[in-house]
Amino acid sequence: MSVSADGVIENLRLNCSEQESKSVDERIAGAVLPGVANLHSHAHQRAMTGLAEQSSGEQDNFWSWRKVMYQMLERINPDQLYHIARMLYLEMLQAGYTHVAEFQYLHHMPNGNAYKNPAEMTLQCLRAARDVGIGFTALPVLYRYGGFGGQPSTEGQKRFTNDQDGFCRLWECVRAELIEEERIGVAPHSLRAISESLLKDVLSALPNDIPVHLHIAEQTTEVEDCVKWCGQRPMEWVLERFSVNADWCLIHATHLEESELTGFAQSGATAGLCPTTEANLGDGIFNAPMFLQAGGRFGIGSDSQISVSVTEELRWLEYVQRLLRRQRNVLNNSENNTGNNTDRNRKHCGTQLFQQAVTGGNKACGIAQGGISAGAQANFIVLDMAHPRLMERTRNELIDSWIFAADSSAIRAVYTKGYRTIENGKHADEIEIHRNFKIALQQLGDSQ
Ligand SMILES: [Zn+2]
Repeated sequence: MSVSADGVIENLRLNCSEQESKSVDERIAGAVLPGVANLHSHAHQRAMTGLAEQSSGEQDNFWSWRKVMYQMLERINPDQLYHIARMLYLEMLQAGYTHVAEFQYLHHMPNGNAYKNPAEMTLQCLRAARDVGIGFTALPVLYRYGGFGGQPSTEGQKRFTNDQDGFCRLWECVRAELIEEERIGVAPHSLRAISESLLKDVLSALPNDIPVHLHIAEQTTEVEDCVKWCGQRPMEWVLERFSVNADWCLIHATHLEESELTGFAQSGATAGLCPTTEANLGDGIFNAPMFLQAGGRFGIGSDSQISVSVTEELRWLEYVQRLLRRQRNVLNNSENNTGNNTDRNRKHCGTQLFQQAVTGGNKACGIAQGGISAGAQANFIVLDMAHPRLMERTRNELIDSWIFAADSSAIRAVYTKGYRTIENGKHADEIEIHRNFKIALQQLGDSQ
């Protein structure tokens, strides 16, 4: 394979012999798959993984988890965020993600004042992404209110909030720093945090073809509060008032009724699914079969970072449906999966899930559709064919085996824009990244 200076595959030859491969830039041994774009990440939450798994004595739910998360957020500084994000993005590369969309809502100093550069925290994430070599879509978060109907924000939210002017200034500060394939979108946090007029004004002040990401219906309480406020469910409200299209990505569309699912699928927007986080937080189960049947598109994200794993996200997505329905191979095209087909024609569940996650992730992050072909960005992973879980597996069965029977340890190498960022499962700066991450955690612990 040879790759141009700007990271695009120029030349590709399959099944080269050792002799032939001497004439090309690099011979890659193993199964090559496109890298996955992680469409939903809150980098700072990596600092608290595992710390909210203890009972508070009451019935724990999303809101009690959020309390723990807010306590951690009160203390984190830009330098700590950089080291936390670098650790996280390294883990993403090792898991098969070659791009990340960072949904960053931590903007201001602990006292609520803006940093000298109002985009300081998002820019720390950008710097971390560049330093480890993962692609980046910045999603600065628009957060204005503390609840539906323009309720005032709370003390715990003072590092998040901006008015329209403040937000647009911050957005421009991020855009000014971006180079080459880096992208920017906008992330209205949730319907709790914005108003109709604010979001309309902000969207009309920004370019009209950028990704728009929004937390939509993660919690039943959130849906009930929305109905109490306006008489509509969140997805109904958004679809009725905004031109939701293929640039949009709706995160955690967990609690939707049938008409909402159909309207969502028909809009062309991507469903941003984060199955391990949704399971960890006890959110509920997205009706993926109905959404896919209606022609919907999805991608995956690591969200709270409780797990950073392409295989685990896709496995959970499928397994909850199997458990619910007492069926197998639910999210691929079941009509072709009767058992009478030849292996060649049978739809492979792991392969289907993986392909959809690649397509949906790229679309949601605003990056060109990839693939392993001349002209595509050289973002790919190499599976280790000597891994015991992949031995004697080829083509679709190989991908099925990786998704359902193996894990990130089967990824031997990862390339982003043609650079080998992971080799034999390791990153060149790994020891230093771990050391600084540990220091950041110690500092956060000490400042408690
Ligand atoms: Zn989120």
